[in-house]
Amino acid sequence: MTQWRNWSGLESTSPSEVVVPADVSEVAAAVTEAAERGTTVKMIGTGHSFTSISAPEGEMLRPEALQGIVAVDREAMTVTALAGTPLHVLNTELARLGLSLHNMGDIAEQTLAGAISTGTHGTGGLKASLSAQVSGLEMVVGDGSVVRASATENPDVLAAARLGLGALGVLTTITFDVEPLGVLLAHEQPMLWDEALERYDEFVAESHHCDMYWFPHTDRMQVKRNYRQDLAPGEAEPLSRFRAWLDDDFLANTAFAGVNAIGNRARSLVPRLNEMSGRLLSERSYSDVPHKVFTSPRRVVFREMEYALPREVGLDALREVRRLVDASDWRISFPVEVRMTPADDLTLGTSTGRESIYLAFHVNRRTDHTAYFGGVEEILRAHDGRPHWGKVHTRTAADLAPAYPRWQEFLDLRDRLDPARVFSNTYLRRVLGD
Ligand SMILES: Cc1cc2nc3c(=O)[nH]c(=O)nc-3n(C[C@H](O)[C@H](O)[C@H](O)COP(=O)(O)OP(=O)(O)OC[C@H]3O[C@@H](n4cnc5c(N)ncnc54)[C@H](O)[C@@H]3O)c2cc1C
Repeated sequence: MTQWRNWSGLESTSPSEVVVPADVSEVAAAVTEAAERGTTVKMIGTGHSFTSISAPEGEMLRPEALQGIVAVDREAMTVTALAGTPLHVLNTELARLGLSLHNMGDIAEQTLAGAISTGTHGTGGLKASLSAQVSGLEMVVGDGSVVRASATENPDVLAAARLGLGALGVLTTITFDVEPLGVLLAHEQPMLWDEALERYDEFVAESHHCDMYWFPHTDRMQVKRNYRQDLAPGEAEPLSRFRAWLDDDFLANTAFAGVNAIGNRARSLVPRLNEMSGRLLSERSYSDVPHKVFTSPRRVVFREMEYALPREVGLDALREVRRLVDASDWRISFPVEVRMTPADDLTLGTSTGRESIYLAFHVNRRTDHTAYFGGVEEILRAHDGRPHWGKVHTRTAADLAPAYPRWQEFLDLRDRLDPARVFSNTYLRRVLGD
């Protein structure tokens, strides 16, 4: 029997069948056949969502045969790629063409379609989410027909399917905006809590991408700021191979895994281990092509919840979370990540219509997350927070609807594109209502 599991190991299912379509006509045939048999069909990505959003319950479609760039338009500065292309493959191919995405998240393992379908985002920039960088798409909808969308053709479909939760159809190609491959200067600096929070607005204003980490049970933060440079890629000054391995691989993964293992066995040591981790981080600067600055390897497996809050209340929510953690007997060994995104215009975007501060909470994959995430989630909800669609949360359609001004528009489009709910699963029934 085939088993599907997500990266964190929190979710698993046993799909009835597995198909690896090689082109749009094979996707259409699989969807048509599933619809005729009255079963469901789900295209998976790489399973990096922490929720069961991509859990295949009927037929599972795998993305491996839908990879690669299919068109480059240097006048419009757009690139079209097959939907199953992993982001690390895309980055390498784009770099070969002298091109780059404007912004991305912390890792590059996900597929292009999987990443946009949950609103995967980075921090800062003119657009922070990958979905907002999409300008066109091709998708097989519930009756097996092919729909294309762009700013001029089916714009309502584009607005929704750029972050479609896998609920509107199977994406086959995605067109996105690109820019000339440039250089980002990265500056990382340890700082104390009060100074980091007081100067946050200044950091966001003077850098292009700002990211902060707070080490729970301590006063320690790490502030990362990136600046776009007017340099050719060959002029970048990357970290030496050894320093990159030491900081981003050994300290961030191998040593952190060791700290986690000790913390799992002796919870009372976690505050002291966090203090030590915070002190070990040193100030550093380097520059590189953007995707190498934005992303790093993540080998310690964890569970994550992340919420988008209106920018004005984001740091107040973080302060409240700290008071809750301080008053609790939880021992949290993973840093809390703080990111910022500009407002966008996606139908169900977590930053739709408002500048946002994102707060992300993690625990080791072996740690029960329910008390910590549950306690924090109450604070985030009270601040009008919207949960990341691919990360752990407990929200349902009834209480998500008021958080999204264009909620009904998405439901109406879903009724039009997938009336028989061929693409549904338990997660989608929970968050969309049927
Ligand atoms: C270590 C780690 C780091 C992360 N860092 C970040 C980060 O920095 N920022 C951030 O925002 N998120 C981050 N995430 C979350 C991650 O980016 C999202 O959950 C993303 O959706 C995962 O992509 P995937 O390819 O694994 O898709 P999956 O999780 O497999 O699927 C996600 C959704 O996409 C749908 N889908 C996949 N392919 C298609 C298709 N062809 N057509 C239609 N629907 C499709 C699936 O059905 C499902 O609904 C991180 C996750 C992990 C595990």
